[in-house]
This record gives sequence, C-alpha cells and structure tokens, in this order.
Amino acid sequence: MKIAVIGSGIGGLASAYWLALKGHEVTVFEKNTKPGGKINELHINNYRFDTGPSLFTMPQLVDELLNSTIDNTTKFEYEQLNVVCKYFYKNGKTLNAFADTEKFKNECKDKFGEDPKNIAKYLTKAHTIYKLTANIFIFNSLSKFRNFLKLSVLKSLLQVHKIQFYQTMHASNKRMFSSPELVQLFNRYATYNGSNPYKAPATLNIIAHLENNLGAFFPKKGMYSIVDHIYRLCENQGVRFNFSTLVNEIVVKNKKAIAIKTGNKEIAFDHIVANSDVNYLAKKMIKNHPLNKRLEKLEPSSSALVFYWGIKKQFHELDLHNILFSANYKDEFKKMFDEKSLSSDPSIYIFVSSKLVKTDAPEGCENWFVMINAPYNDKQNWDELIKKARKNIIAKINTTLNTNIEDYIECESIASPESIEENTLSEKGALYGNSSNSTMSAFLRHPNFLKGIKNISFVGGSVHPGGGIPLCLAGAKIIEKEIQTMPNTHLNNN
Ligand SMILES: Cc1cc2nc3c(=O)[nH]c(=O)nc-3n(C[C@H](O)[C@H](O)[C@H](O)COP(=O)(O)OP(=O)(O)OC[C@H]3O[C@@H](n4cnc5c(N)ncnc54)[C@H](O)[C@@H]3O)c2cc1C
Repeated sequence: MKIAVIGSGIGGLASAYWLALKGHEVTVFEKNTKPGGKINELHINNYRFDTGPSLFTMPQLVDELLNSTIDNTTKFEYEQLNVVCKYFYKNGKTLNAFADTEKFKNECKDKFGEDPKNIAKYLTKAHTIYKLTANIFIFNSLSKFRNFLKLSVLKSLLQVHKIQFYQTMHASNKRMFSSPELVQLFNRYATYNGSNPYKAPATLNIIAHLENNLGAFFPKKGMYSIVDHIYRLCENQGVRFNFSTLVNEIVVKNKKAIAIKTGNKEIAFDHIVANSDVNYLAKKMIKNHPLNKRLEKLEPSSSALVFYWGIKKQFHELDLHNILFSANYKDEFKKMFDEKSLSSDPSIYIFVSSKLVKTDAPEGCENWFVMINAPYNDKQNWDELIKKARKNIIAKINTTLNTNIEDYIECESIASPESIEENTLSEKGALYGNSSNSTMSAFLRHPNFLKGIKNISFVGGSVHPGGGIPLCLAGAKIIEKEIQTMPNTHLNNN
C-alpha cells in the first residue's frame, strides 16, 4: 500500500518503520524541520538540552525496532539507573529512590520509618495491575471486539477488580503507607500521564511498576538519540520524509480517505496514519465528521512549564532526576486542574542530563531542565504566570540547595503550554492527550481507528494506549498489526 504518516513524533516514526518493514511504500509529512515532535533537543552556547521526555522506561520497545533489522551500523546504548529519582521534601529530608528494591525499602525505613512490607506490598500490587492490564490496554487494540475474546484478555477481565479502578490513586496510596512523604512520592506517578492523583483511578499505580520494578534507564547519548536511531532505521528502510510540510486536510470520499492535502496540493494514498493529536485532527483536518463533538467533552491532560538553564557550576547533591516537593500536593493539583493556574509552591523537577552525558555541558557546568506541571493552555496570561513561577522556583531552589542560583544561570530558554501547543500541534499544549481524571477517561481514549472511515489509523500520545514513549511505541505495533490484517477492500478507491 501507499501509506502517508502525518507527523514524525515517536509514534509516527515507529509506525512508519514497522509498515515500511512490511513492504509498504511509506511517506512521512512533518510540519517541523526535523523529526521527534515532543522528543526534541536544543543547543544553546555549549549546552545541549533534551527539551521533552527525560524519563526512559521499557527500553526493550526501542530495542525491538533496532533488533528487527540486520542494519547494525549504529548501536543504541543505554544504562539502567541505580537511583531512579532523588526526592527533596519541604521538611528538609531527602530520599534516594534506589532501583535495588532492598536498598529502596531500607532507605524508606531509615528516612521515614516506613515498614518495608508496605513497599513490597505496593510494588507487588503495581505488578499485578500491569499483568492484568498490559494485554488489554497496552498491547491490544480496543477497536475490535474479537480482541476481547482472546483467552489472555478474558482471564484478565475475570480479575478486573484487582486493578483498583474503583478508588483514586491517593485513596489507595494513603491506605498503603504510614508516611505522608511516601504517599506524595507514589501519588506523583499520576503526573506521568498528565493526571490528578486525587481524581485518577489507582489503576495508574501501574506506572510505578514500570519505574520501580522494571527499572528506569537513560540513553548514553541523551533522549534525542532515541529519535535519531528510529529516524535512521526509517531512512534505511526507504521511508520518505517531507519536513516543513503541514498537512491541512485528509480528503475523504464515500467514507474512504483518498488523499492528504498540503497547501493546495492533493496527494493520493491508500492508507493514512495520523500521528497528529486526535483533537487537532478532528477540529482542523477532517471535514464533517462527528468526532470533534465527542472529543470536546474530554478534559485535556496537564501541560508543563520548563526552564532550560545553562548553569556554570556543578551541584553534587543533585542526581540525574530530582524532585523538590511542595508542602501541599493537593492544593497544587487543585490550582492546576480546577483553577487552570499555578501554585505558588509548585513541586519542581530538575533533570540534569550532563550528570551522565558529559558533553551536554561545558566542563564544570550543568544543563538544568527545570520543570513544573502546568495547566493546559486555556489562554491564560502566560507571560505573567511564567514570571511569577520563575521567581517562586528560584526561591525554592535557593532554600533547598542553599544557593543563589541566579548567579549561575548563564543562558536560558523556556517552554510553556502555549509553545508546546504551537510546536507540536498538541491540543492546548497537553502533554499526554486527554487526562485520566476519572475512571472512564482512563479507559476510554480514542481508539486507533475511526468508525466509518476504515483506512485512517491513529497513533501517538492522544490515542490508545496513551502518552509517553513506551505507550506510543506500543501503539505503533498495534496499528501495524491491524493494518496488516485489514481486508484490502479500501484499495484502488480513487
Ligand atoms: C516537557 C515534556 C516532558 C515529557 N516527559 C516525558 C517523560 O519523561 N517520559 C515519557 O515517556 N514521556 C514524556 N513526555 C511525553 C512524550 O513526549 C509524548 O507522549 C510522546 O513523545 C508523544 O509522541 P507522539 O507520537 O504522540 O507525537 P508528538 O510528539 O506529539 O509529535 C507529533 C508530531 O506530528 C506533527 N504534526 C501534527 N500534526 C501535523 C500535521 N497536520 N501536518 C504535519 N505534521 C503534523 C507535529 O509537528 C509533531 O512533530 C513528555 C512531553 C513533554 C512535552
């Protein structure tokens, strides 16, 4: 088939590769000048920053792409982190989340008096959720009823009560741990898909399984090297790329997509893979379809405000991933989701890739990616919010690290919900499509196919199985399988 892939985010790239490997003629259209979408990089002076994702889990999904070819001209190397994240609390305490479970349990006991059995029980429960849901919700398409009849899926459905969809993440974590610090730590995993732990179902505790049981990793050349590798695989497989090319319409005739339009140019294809945010596509790229009405009712996930700072000093008390927690976590989410604003005491995430990738900063310096969760873009006064947030962030860093950080910032760039929306065409700058702030929204993401128009497939963070690198890669495998098993009735439709 002649297949168009709209967008070169991680989901679009992986789909393009899998489909080309199956012998299809694949062309990618990307409005930006380079591939990657939210996974991107920035060079300022002698600093390099990964501008989007920083946490890398389930690397085997990238390995699977690389191992599928005999092309071994490049090697994708990554390492497992010994400390998954370092946490700094408002009460002055710190905690290293060690990858080694025994060490982690001891650390939680020493620092907060938490019974190691609670940690073990929590991680076992998170693993159970993974075992029960992975087959249904991560590696399976929801668009075909027959997929629910598979034995493995039916077995999981019989134990569905164990996935804790009936209580919030916070309620479950509060029951599990005696120390508020650990409740806050494990509540944080809701933010990994842009949700509110006080509303999202405890099923999202699955995320802790990925990081704590399966491990957190980091590519030896930084996050953007993931894109570099998949892009190279695509090129070697004959995928054609059109950068700086916005697709403004998918042309549909008699319930079939027959072409894409870029400017006034119409190009015919047999099948379309949409890696654009489904909300954007429904509003802007497809005419007279009811999809937009259904999507409009859903709440977007959170976005982010990120400061990229070149720091002319090294802070040995920081690790690769660091969190400076707020004193009132609940208030932070209330501000973000209910008031669409920012807390004056936000939890701050500091990611320093130069801790591992030495070339990412000049000698004696560090590249800081300083992020707070932010509401989706609702046309707030971002200039004002950014100014206030910068002041609050600096004050908190100064207190926590006993420094005057402004003295060391030698260059800066900023990403906001507005700029994320503009750069990636993600609806309202949401990082993960729609939020999972209710039981139903957690399970009802837009599927990978569209009712009524057979030959459009959807892949990426705004659709099933969800946002984040591993889920987008899983989505690419889902649609490749579905496209391969489709009857070719939609071919020769022009
Ligand atoms: C600041 C930040 C931090 C994050 N942290 C993490 C993390 O630590 N770990 C993690 O796993 N995930 C993280 N994520 C989320 C992760 O980056 C995304 O879920 C994932 O990269 C989305 O990939 P995608 O396939 O949906 O494509 P996207 O990255 O959304 O890219 C879509 C691409 O399609 C292009 N496009 C869209 N419409 C059109 C059109 N009409 N014509 C042409 N081109 C079009 C866009 O320009 C864009 O390049 C983070 C994201 C951000 C922004």
